[in-house]
Amino acid sequence: MVMTVSSGSLGQVNGKPERSITLLGNDCVIRSKVSLASLTSFRVGGPADWYTAPQRLDQLLACLEWANAEELPITLLGGGSNLLVSDRGLRGLVIGTRYLRHTHFDQETGQLTVGSGASLPRLAWKAARMGWRGLEWAVGIPGTVGGAIVMNAGAHISCTADILVNTHILERSGTLQVLPPEKLGYRYRTSNLQGSDRLVTQATFQLQPGYDPEQVMAETTEHFQQRRLSQPYHLPSCGSVFRNPGPHKAGWLIEQTGLKGYKIGGAQVAERHANFILNCGSATASDIFQLIHHVQERVQHQWSCLLEPEVRILGEHDLISN
Ligand SMILES: Cc1cc2nc3c(=O)[nH]c(=O)nc-3n(C[C@H](O)[C@H](O)[C@H](O)COP(=O)(O)OP(=O)(O)OC[C@H]3O[C@@H](n4cnc5c(N)ncnc54)[C@H](O)[C@@H]3O)c2cc1C
Repeated sequence: MVMTVSSGSLGQVNGKPERSITLLGNDCVIRSKVSLASLTSFRVGGPADWYTAPQRLDQLLACLEWANAEELPITLLGGGSNLLVSDRGLRGLVIGTRYLRHTHFDQETGQLTVGSGASLPRLAWKAARMGWRGLEWAVGIPGTVGGAIVMNAGAHISCTADILVNTHILERSGTLQVLPPEKLGYRYRTSNLQGSDRLVTQATFQLQPGYDPEQVMAETTEHFQQRRLSQPYHLPSCGSVFRNPGPHKAGWLIEQTGLKGYKIGGAQVAERHANFILNCGSATASDIFQLIHHVQERVQHQWSCLLEPEVRILGEHDLISN
Protein backbone atom coordinates (compact mmCIF):
# COMPACT_ATOMS: atom_id res chain seq x y z
CA MET A 1 0.00 0.00 0.00
CA VAL A 2 1.23 3.52 -0.83
CA MET A 3 1.59 5.81 2.19
CA THR A 4 0.87 9.46 1.45
CA VAL A 5 1.14 12.75 3.28
CA SER A 6 -1.10 15.52 1.99
CA SER A 7 0.23 19.04 2.51
CA GLY A 8 -3.18 20.66 2.03
CA SER A 9 -4.13 23.66 -0.06
CA LEU A 10 -1.31 25.51 -1.89
CA GLY A 11 -3.38 28.15 -3.64
CA GLN A 12 -5.90 28.42 -6.46
CA VAL A 13 -5.75 27.38 -10.12
CA ASN A 14 -8.81 28.27 -12.22
CA GLY A 15 -10.73 28.82 -9.00
CA LYS A 16 -9.96 25.31 -7.73
CA PRO A 17 -7.68 24.62 -4.76
CA GLU A 18 -4.24 23.25 -5.61
CA ARG A 19 -2.94 20.45 -3.40
CA SER A 20 0.21 18.41 -3.17
CA ILE A 21 0.81 14.89 -1.93
CA THR A 22 4.15 13.50 -0.82
CA LEU A 23 4.64 9.73 -1.10
CA LEU A 24 6.24 8.53 2.10
CA GLY A 25 9.61 6.79 1.85
CA ASN A 26 10.90 8.43 -1.32
CA ASP A 27 9.91 12.14 -1.18
CA CYS A 28 8.07 12.02 -4.47
CA VAL A 29 5.72 15.00 -4.71
CA ILE A 30 2.50 14.79 -6.72
CA ARG A 31 0.76 18.14 -7.31
CA SER A 32 -2.80 18.80 -8.36
CA LYS A 33 -4.02 21.21 -11.07
CA VAL A 34 -0.67 21.79 -12.78
CA SER A 35 -0.88 23.80 -16.01
CA LEU A 36 0.34 21.79 -19.00
CA ALA A 37 0.56 24.80 -21.35
CA SER A 38 4.03 25.65 -20.07
CA LEU A 39 5.15 22.02 -20.42
CA THR A 40 4.25 21.66 -24.11
CA SER A 41 5.80 23.33 -27.16
CA PHE A 42 2.39 24.52 -28.49
CA ARG A 43 1.98 26.46 -25.20
CA VAL A 44 -1.73 25.58 -24.97
CA GLY A 45 -3.85 23.22 -22.90
CA GLY A 46 -5.47 23.07 -19.48
CA PRO A 47 -4.20 21.56 -16.22
CA ALA A 48 -3.36 18.00 -15.31
CA ASP A 49 -5.54 16.73 -12.47
CA TRP A 50 -2.29 15.43 -10.98
CA TYR A 51 1.32 15.93 -12.10
CA THR A 52 4.64 14.56 -10.95
CA ALA A 53 8.19 14.59 -12.33
CA PRO A 54 10.17 11.87 -10.53
CA GLN A 55 13.95 12.04 -10.37
CA ARG A 56 14.64 8.37 -9.69
CA LEU A 57 13.26 4.96 -10.59
CA ASP A 58 12.02 4.27 -7.04
CA GLN A 59 10.00 7.51 -7.16
CA LEU A 60 8.60 6.55 -10.55
CA LEU A 61 7.55 3.15 -9.22
CA ALA A 62 5.89 4.75 -6.21
CA CYS A 63 3.92 7.14 -8.48
CA LEU A 64 2.69 4.22 -10.57
CA GLU A 65 1.70 2.35 -7.43
CA TRP A 66 -0.22 5.44 -6.21
CA ALA A 67 -2.01 5.84 -9.59
CA ASN A 68 -2.92 2.13 -9.53
CA ALA A 69 -4.24 2.40 -5.97
CA GLU A 70 -6.31 5.47 -6.92
CA GLU A 71 -7.38 3.79 -10.21
CA LEU A 72 -6.25 6.82 -12.22
CA PRO A 73 -5.37 6.91 -15.91
CA ILE A 74 -1.77 7.97 -16.58
CA THR A 75 -0.26 10.09 -19.35
CA LEU A 76 3.47 10.20 -20.06
CA LEU A 77 5.03 13.55 -20.86
CA GLY A 78 8.53 13.98 -22.30
CA GLY A 79 9.48 17.35 -23.76
CA GLY A 80 5.85 17.96 -24.77
CA SER A 81 7.02 18.81 -28.31
CA ASN A 82 4.52 16.60 -30.11
CA LEU A 83 1.39 17.04 -28.01
CA LEU A 84 -1.89 18.91 -28.33
CA VAL A 85 -3.46 18.94 -24.86
CA SER A 86 -7.15 19.84 -24.52
CA ASP A 87 -8.10 23.21 -23.04
CA ARG A 88 -9.96 21.16 -20.42
CA GLY A 89 -6.70 19.53 -19.35
CA LEU A 90 -6.07 15.86 -18.62
CA ARG A 91 -7.67 13.53 -16.12
CA GLY A 92 -5.60 11.31 -13.86
CA LEU A 93 -1.83 11.49 -13.32
CA VAL A 94 0.60 13.04 -15.80
CA ILE A 95 4.15 11.74 -15.30
CA GLY A 96 6.86 14.05 -16.62
CA THR A 97 10.19 12.37 -17.39
CA ARG A 98 12.28 15.56 -17.61
CA TYR A 99 14.44 14.71 -14.54
CA LEU A 100 15.27 11.13 -15.59
CA ARG A 101 18.34 12.08 -17.59
CA HIS A 102 21.44 10.14 -16.46
CA THR A 103 23.90 9.89 -19.38
CA HIS A 104 26.84 7.57 -20.06
CA PHE A 105 29.02 7.55 -23.20
CA ASP A 106 30.91 4.22 -23.26
CA GLN A 107 34.20 4.82 -25.08
CA GLU A 108 34.89 1.09 -25.54
CA THR A 109 31.60 0.06 -27.12
CA GLY A 110 30.57 3.40 -28.66
CA GLN A 111 27.24 3.05 -26.90
CA LEU A 112 25.32 5.90 -25.31
CA THR A 113 23.07 4.89 -22.41
CA VAL A 114 20.72 7.60 -21.31
CA GLY A 115 17.65 8.30 -19.17
CA SER A 116 14.40 8.89 -21.04
CA GLY A 117 14.12 12.54 -19.98
CA ALA A 118 17.44 13.60 -21.55
CA SER A 119 17.14 16.19 -24.29
CA LEU A 120 17.80 14.75 -27.76
CA PRO A 121 19.31 17.93 -29.28
CA ARG A 122 21.61 18.38 -26.27
CA LEU A 123 22.85 14.80 -26.72
CA ALA A 124 23.39 15.45 -30.44
CA TRP A 125 25.55 18.52 -29.70
CA LYS A 126 27.46 16.68 -26.97
CA ALA A 127 28.17 13.67 -29.21
CA ALA A 128 29.35 16.02 -31.98
CA ARG A 129 31.71 17.89 -29.63
CA MET A 130 33.19 14.50 -28.62
CA GLY A 131 33.64 13.43 -32.26
CA TRP A 132 30.97 10.71 -32.07
CA ARG A 133 28.90 10.15 -35.19
CA GLY A 134 25.31 8.91 -35.29
CA LEU A 135 23.18 11.71 -33.83
CA GLU A 136 23.86 14.58 -36.27
CA TRP A 137 20.30 14.29 -37.66
CA ALA A 138 18.70 14.73 -34.22
CA VAL A 139 19.95 18.23 -33.52
CA GLY A 140 16.75 20.04 -34.52
CA ILE A 141 14.27 17.70 -32.79
CA PRO A 142 13.33 19.45 -29.56
CA GLY A 143 12.17 16.47 -27.46
CA THR A 144 13.45 13.87 -25.04
CA VAL A 145 14.91 10.43 -25.63
CA GLY A 146 11.67 8.79 -24.42
CA GLY A 147 9.55 10.82 -26.83
CA ALA A 148 11.94 10.01 -29.69
CA ILE A 149 11.71 6.28 -28.98
CA VAL A 150 7.90 6.34 -28.86
CA MET A 151 7.51 8.57 -31.95
CA ASN A 152 10.45 7.05 -33.87
CA ALA A 153 11.59 10.64 -34.33
CA GLY A 154 13.75 11.27 -37.34
CA ALA A 155 15.12 13.73 -39.85
CA HIS A 156 17.47 13.84 -42.83
CA ILE A 157 16.59 10.19 -43.74
CA SER A 158 17.69 8.86 -40.34
CA CYS A 159 15.51 7.90 -37.41
CA THR A 160 15.63 6.69 -33.82
CA ALA A 161 15.02 3.03 -34.71
CA ASP A 162 18.24 3.04 -36.83
CA ILE A 163 20.52 3.57 -33.82
CA LEU A 164 18.56 2.00 -30.95
CA VAL A 165 20.20 -1.01 -29.30
CA ASN A 166 17.60 -1.52 -26.56
CA THR A 167 15.21 0.32 -24.31
CA HIS A 168 13.98 -0.21 -20.76
CA ILE A 169 10.19 -0.31 -20.58
CA LEU A 170 8.29 -0.05 -17.32
CA GLU A 171 4.77 -1.49 -17.29
CA ARG A 172 2.03 -0.03 -15.07
CA SER A 173 2.33 -3.16 -12.97
CA GLY A 174 5.93 -2.20 -12.15
CA THR A 175 7.47 -4.90 -14.40
CA LEU A 176 10.64 -3.71 -16.14
CA GLN A 177 11.58 -5.18 -19.54
CA VAL A 178 14.63 -4.60 -21.74
CA LEU A 179 13.48 -4.66 -25.37
CA PRO A 180 15.37 -4.50 -28.68
CA PRO A 181 13.96 -2.31 -31.51
CA GLU A 182 12.49 -5.40 -33.27
CA LYS A 183 9.95 -5.67 -30.45
CA LEU A 184 8.73 -2.09 -30.78
CA GLY A 185 6.82 -2.33 -34.08
CA TYR A 186 8.78 0.50 -35.66
CA ARG A 187 7.48 2.19 -38.79
CA TYR A 188 7.64 5.75 -40.12
CA ARG A 189 7.18 8.08 -37.08
CA THR A 190 5.46 5.41 -35.01
CA SER A 191 5.96 2.45 -32.68
CA ASN A 192 3.74 0.10 -30.72
CA LEU A 193 4.47 2.20 -27.59
CA GLN A 194 2.24 5.00 -28.88
CA GLY A 195 -1.04 5.33 -27.03
CA SER A 196 0.00 2.76 -24.41
CA ASP A 197 0.93 3.48 -20.82
CA ARG A 198 4.23 1.61 -21.06
CA LEU A 199 6.95 3.97 -19.90
CA VAL A 200 10.40 4.29 -21.46
CA THR A 201 12.86 4.82 -18.62
CA GLN A 202 16.19 4.40 -20.41
CA ALA A 203 17.70 3.69 -23.83
CA THR A 204 21.01 2.59 -25.31
CA PHE A 205 22.08 3.86 -28.74
CA GLN A 206 24.93 2.65 -30.95
CA LEU A 207 27.09 5.57 -32.07
CA GLN A 208 30.51 5.73 -33.75
CA PRO A 209 33.24 7.39 -31.69
CA GLY A 210 36.70 8.44 -32.87
CA TYR A 211 35.89 10.97 -35.60
CA ASP A 212 37.28 14.48 -35.87
CA PRO A 213 35.06 16.60 -33.54
CA GLU A 214 35.39 19.62 -35.84
CA GLN A 215 34.01 17.64 -38.76
CA VAL A 216 31.10 16.15 -36.80
CA MET A 217 30.33 19.60 -35.34
CA ALA A 218 30.34 21.11 -38.86
CA GLU A 219 27.85 18.50 -40.13
CA THR A 220 25.64 18.86 -37.06
CA THR A 221 25.65 22.65 -37.43
CA GLU A 222 24.74 22.31 -41.11
CA HIS A 223 21.69 20.15 -40.24
CA PHE A 224 20.71 22.68 -37.61
CA GLN A 225 21.00 25.68 -39.93
CA GLN A 226 19.19 23.92 -42.76
CA ARG A 227 16.21 23.35 -40.47
CA ARG A 228 16.21 26.90 -39.12
CA LEU A 229 15.99 28.16 -42.72
CA SER A 230 13.21 25.81 -43.87
CA GLN A 231 11.08 25.58 -40.71
CA PRO A 232 9.47 28.27 -38.52
CA TYR A 233 11.04 28.06 -35.06
CA HIS A 234 10.05 31.59 -33.97
CA LEU A 235 6.54 30.70 -32.70
CA PRO A 236 5.18 27.78 -30.63
CA SER A 237 4.33 24.66 -32.66
CA CYS A 238 4.63 20.87 -32.57
CA GLY A 239 6.81 20.62 -35.69
CA SER A 240 5.11 18.72 -38.51
CA VAL A 241 1.43 18.21 -37.67
CA PHE A 242 0.71 15.42 -40.20
CA ARG A 243 2.61 12.31 -41.28
CA ASN A 244 3.72 12.39 -44.90
CA PRO A 245 1.23 10.17 -46.75
CA GLY A 246 3.41 9.55 -49.84
CA PRO A 247 3.97 9.94 -52.69
CA HIS A 248 3.54 13.63 -51.82
CA LYS A 249 4.62 15.34 -48.63
CA ALA A 250 1.85 16.60 -46.34
CA GLY A 251 3.27 20.15 -46.57
CA TRP A 252 3.11 20.09 -50.37
CA LEU A 253 -0.53 18.89 -50.35
CA ILE A 254 -1.51 21.60 -47.84
CA GLU A 255 0.31 24.29 -49.82
CA GLN A 256 -1.28 23.17 -53.13
CA THR A 257 -4.70 23.35 -51.42
CA GLY A 258 -4.05 27.06 -50.83
CA LEU A 259 -3.97 26.82 -47.05
CA LYS A 260 -0.65 28.51 -46.27
CA GLY A 261 -1.37 31.36 -43.87
CA TYR A 262 -4.95 30.13 -43.16
CA LYS A 263 -6.01 31.09 -39.62
CA ILE A 264 -8.54 29.95 -37.06
CA GLY A 265 -8.46 32.11 -33.93
CA GLY A 266 -4.83 32.36 -32.88
CA ALA A 267 -3.70 29.28 -34.84
CA GLN A 268 -2.21 29.60 -38.32
CA VAL A 269 -0.85 27.31 -41.05
CA ALA A 270 2.75 28.52 -41.30
CA GLU A 271 3.79 30.49 -44.37
CA ARG A 272 7.31 29.02 -44.29
CA HIS A 273 6.30 25.34 -43.98
CA ALA A 274 2.66 24.36 -44.58
CA ASN A 275 2.86 21.23 -42.40
CA PHE A 276 3.47 23.45 -39.34
CA ILE A 277 0.61 25.03 -37.39
CA LEU A 278 1.74 27.98 -35.29
CA ASN A 279 0.35 29.40 -32.09
CA CYS A 280 0.51 33.08 -33.01
CA GLY A 281 0.26 34.09 -29.36
CA SER A 282 -3.36 33.74 -28.39
CA ALA A 283 -4.27 30.28 -29.75
CA THR A 284 -6.29 27.83 -27.69
CA ALA A 285 -6.03 24.08 -28.10
CA SER A 286 -9.50 24.29 -29.63
CA ASP A 287 -8.28 26.73 -32.35
CA ILE A 288 -5.49 24.30 -33.24
CA PHE A 289 -7.84 21.30 -33.18
CA GLN A 290 -10.35 23.06 -35.50
CA LEU A 291 -7.52 24.05 -37.86
CA ILE A 292 -6.21 20.47 -38.00
CA HIS A 293 -9.70 19.30 -39.01
CA HIS A 294 -10.14 22.10 -41.53
CA VAL A 295 -6.85 21.19 -43.21
CA GLN A 296 -7.79 17.49 -43.24
CA GLU A 297 -11.19 18.25 -44.79
CA ARG A 298 -9.87 20.58 -47.49
CA VAL A 299 -6.99 18.27 -48.46
CA GLN A 300 -9.27 15.25 -48.57
CA HIS A 301 -11.77 17.14 -50.72
CA GLN A 302 -9.11 18.18 -53.24
CA TRP A 303 -6.77 15.16 -53.21
CA SER A 304 -8.90 12.26 -51.81
CA CYS A 305 -6.20 11.78 -49.20
CA LEU A 306 -6.89 11.82 -45.45
CA LEU A 307 -3.89 13.34 -43.68
CA GLU A 308 -3.11 11.48 -40.47
CA PRO A 309 -1.96 13.63 -37.53
CA GLU A 310 1.55 12.88 -36.26
CA VAL A 311 0.91 15.11 -33.22
CA ARG A 312 -0.58 13.21 -30.27
CA ILE A 313 -4.00 14.73 -29.48
CA LEU A 314 -4.73 14.29 -25.78
CA GLY A 315 -7.88 14.89 -23.73
CA GLU A 316 -11.35 15.88 -24.88
CA HIS A 317 -11.77 18.13 -27.94
CA ASP A 318 -15.03 19.22 -29.59
CA LEU A 319 -15.33 19.85 -33.29
CA ILE A 320 -17.17 23.13 -33.87
CA SER A 321 -19.15 22.94 -37.13
CA ASN A 322 -19.18 26.08 -39.34
C1 LIG B 1 9.96 22.91 -33.86
C2 LIG B 1 9.78 21.41 -33.89
C3 LIG B 1 10.45 20.65 -34.82
C4 LIG B 1 10.27 19.24 -34.84
N1 LIG B 1 10.96 18.50 -35.78
C5 LIG B 1 10.82 17.16 -35.78
C6 LIG B 1 11.55 16.36 -36.73
O1 LIG B 1 12.31 16.84 -37.54
N2 LIG B 1 11.38 15.02 -36.70
C7 LIG B 1 10.55 14.42 -35.81
O2 LIG B 1 10.45 13.18 -35.82
N3 LIG B 1 9.85 15.14 -34.90
C8 LIG B 1 9.97 16.49 -34.87
N4 LIG B 1 9.26 17.24 -33.97
C9 LIG B 1 8.29 16.57 -33.08
C10 LIG B 1 8.85 16.13 -31.71
O3 LIG B 1 9.95 16.93 -31.33
C11 LIG B 1 9.27 14.66 -31.72
O4 LIG B 1 8.18 13.81 -32.02
C12 LIG B 1 9.86 14.26 -30.36
O5 LIG B 1 10.47 12.99 -30.50
C13 LIG B 1 8.84 14.19 -29.24
O6 LIG B 1 9.54 14.01 -28.03
P1 LIG B 1 8.97 14.58 -26.67
O7 LIG B 1 9.90 14.17 -25.60
O8 LIG B 1 8.71 16.04 -26.78
O9 LIG B 1 7.63 13.75 -26.55
P2 LIG B 1 6.21 14.27 -26.07
O10 LIG B 1 5.69 15.28 -27.04
O11 LIG B 1 6.25 14.65 -24.65
O12 LIG B 1 5.35 12.92 -26.22
C14 LIG B 1 5.15 12.31 -27.47
C15 LIG B 1 4.53 10.93 -27.22
O13 LIG B 1 5.47 10.12 -26.56
C16 LIG B 1 4.97 9.70 -25.28
N5 LIG B 1 6.11 9.72 -24.36
C17 LIG B 1 6.97 10.72 -24.11
N6 LIG B 1 7.95 10.32 -23.28
C18 LIG B 1 7.68 9.02 -22.98
C19 LIG B 1 8.31 8.05 -22.18
N7 LIG B 1 9.43 8.30 -21.48
N8 LIG B 1 7.77 6.81 -22.12
C20 LIG B 1 6.64 6.50 -22.81
N9 LIG B 1 5.99 7.40 -23.57
C21 LIG B 1 6.51 8.64 -23.67
C22 LIG B 1 3.88 10.68 -24.93
O14 LIG B 1 2.91 10.11 -24.07
C23 LIG B 1 3.30 10.98 -26.32
O15 LIG B 1 2.43 9.95 -26.73
C24 LIG B 1 9.41 18.63 -33.92
C25 LIG B 1 8.74 19.41 -32.95
C26 LIG B 1 8.93 20.79 -32.92
C27 LIG B 1 8.22 21.60 -31.88
